[in-house]
Amino acid sequence: MNDGILTRREFVVGATAAVAAVGATLILPRGALAAPIELPPLPYADNALDPYISANTIGFHYGKHHKAYVDNVNKMIAGTEYADMQLEKIITATAGNAEKQSIFNNAAQVWNHTFYWKSMKPKGGGAPPKELAAKIDAAFGSYDGFKKAFTEAAVTQFGSGWAWLAAKDGALQIVKTPNAENPLVKGLKPVLTIDVWEHAYYLDYQNKRPDYVAAFLDHLVNWDFAASNLAAA
Ligand code: MN
Repeated sequence: MNDGILTRREFVVGATAAVAAVGATLILPRGALAAPIELPPLPYADNALDPYISANTIGFHYGKHHKAYVDNVNKMIAGTEYADMQLEKIITATAGNAEKQSIFNNAAQVWNHTFYWKSMKPKGGGAPPKELAAKIDAAFGSYDGFKKAFTEAAVTQFGSGWAWLAAKDGALQIVKTPNAENPLVKGLKPVLTIDVWEHAYYLDYQNKRPDYVAAFLDHLVNWDFAASNLAAA
């Protein structure tokens, strides 16, 4: 020490500790700061999936529908036991509880849509990368076998819902879910999804859901995202 004048090293150590202390106060549960569940930014421009999904569709689907689910769930959880929870926890905590159906629906739809936007990319689609292709072959016989099974699930989901590629213990399976339900509530790891609510395709494809599903598989699927989910499974 030197009469109250800090050496350069002492200053750096002290400043680092001060920054760490300030930083620590920022790591608080969401509810403690009343920060809402957020609408994540789209991972691409609103016209980036054109012509397979138009900017017009994304304007409504992301800008109105997805945003409404975010706004709704924030209103519903304010001041409740769910206010401090992470989104995935809210979903699993309310699943199957008839009294919490509205919270579940909106929370799950926030999560599902964020996952859906990431499941696509410009110039996506086609065959998956090698490591994922091997897992797809193991589960469905071939990529064509996967396409057939995924398309079947997406096209036959009656009314509103979702079709998913999901994993359990590293093995792939296809799941279809009604309304807001998702594989998280079945204890499965979501890998990829397509939204088959009419609002996802009606402006571009009208009633032709099979054409939308084909465009998704041939031109939009983000296999890198799927592979990263599987790696984390
Ligand atoms: Mn949707």
